[in-house]
Amino acid sequence: MKWSFKVARIAGIDVNVHATFGLIVAVGALEWSGRHGAQGALFGAALMLALFACVALHELGHSLVARRFGLTVREILLLPIGGVAMLVGRPERPLHELLIALAGPAVNVALAAALLLVNGVLGFLPGLTELGAASGPSLQTALLWLLGANMALAVFNMIPALPLDGGRVLRAGLSMAVGPARATSAAAAIGQVIAVALFAFALISGHLVLAFISLLVFLGASQERATERARTILGDVPAGRAYNRRAIALSPCDRVNDAAEHILTTYQTDFAVMLEGEPIGVLTRADVIRALAEGAGSAYVAGLMRREVVRVGADRSLDEVARLMSEKSTPVVAVYDGERYLGLISHEDMAEALTLLQFLPAPRQGGAASQAAPRAQWT
Ligand SMILES: [Zn+2]
Repeated sequence: MKWSFKVARIAGIDVNVHATFGLIVAVGALEWSGRHGAQGALFGAALMLALFACVALHELGHSLVARRFGLTVREILLLPIGGVAMLVGRPERPLHELLIALAGPAVNVALAAALLLVNGVLGFLPGLTELGAASGPSLQTALLWLLGANMALAVFNMIPALPLDGGRVLRAGLSMAVGPARATSAAAAIGQVIAVALFAFALISGHLVLAFISLLVFLGASQERATERARTILGDVPAGRAYNRRAIALSPCDRVNDAAEHILTTYQTDFAVMLEGEPIGVLTRADVIRALAEGAGSAYVAGLMRREVVRVGADRSLDEVARLMSEKSTPVVAVYDGERYLGLISHEDMAEALTLLQFLPAPRQGGAASQAAPRAQWT
């Protein structure tokens, strides 16, 4: 993600921090500096960093279990309102989703148990009752505060509101009984009801951060519903139905300006570069615009095209195509019938297919679905 930088790499997974993360550290410092001055500010900042180390470990829990089940972990991103594990692909079975979802809060439960033990051994536990702004910066305050924070993280994330972990657990459980489509719409509806209730509570009690988070939960539930609907629609349609049959192909010795002319005068945005009936590369609209901006309009297509062309069989579903595009980070795939090249499918073609196919007669039903690629953000 833009404006983020790497702070750690654990088990081959990058942990990135968003630039706005500094805000939460400042909030921590501010909160403790009022009563305890400069020392308090340092202590508050350190507490926030420790809290977000726990959040990163929570995301690492999701990530490692997800990787165990064959998903790709793109990164762990820390934002001021929490962490996100960027996973590519989706769990194959409801049980996998259940275990991936539980792994995050399980890390916080384990951390809380360890902190409980440490606090107990050090004789800190009696201080738990008078923990508050009045307690000064000390090891005891820090350890007790982190114990409470990890308990809160586990409990909050297990609220059964999709897309929170508890909502995913609920969806996975329902999936086993009624299938993913109905499970998602039920879990999303429950998630939105809870989000509205949380929002009302947050407004009444003046918790602005909670109000913001409940808004995100509400929108996240809509997104989950749209993604699942897209998956249902696209899962029924073979790639052989959606590729562009009247596509203009480029030759390696065409120029970028030729491609630009095609983009200007047709609806086509991505081009196969063909040599003797075989695609040897792909030139996308983004490639063309970049080349034009650099003043390379007269350059040969062969020098700019993407040489890796991802192949899919014509009988594969568009849902599988979307998954492949996301996994390989490619904007286009080449559709083949056996060894015979048929044409390209791009992100635009997928969006088009989704828009049109949802208006086909039953059993598919309408509604706006916006995102086809199965790229999940686990909080
Ligand atoms: Zn989580």
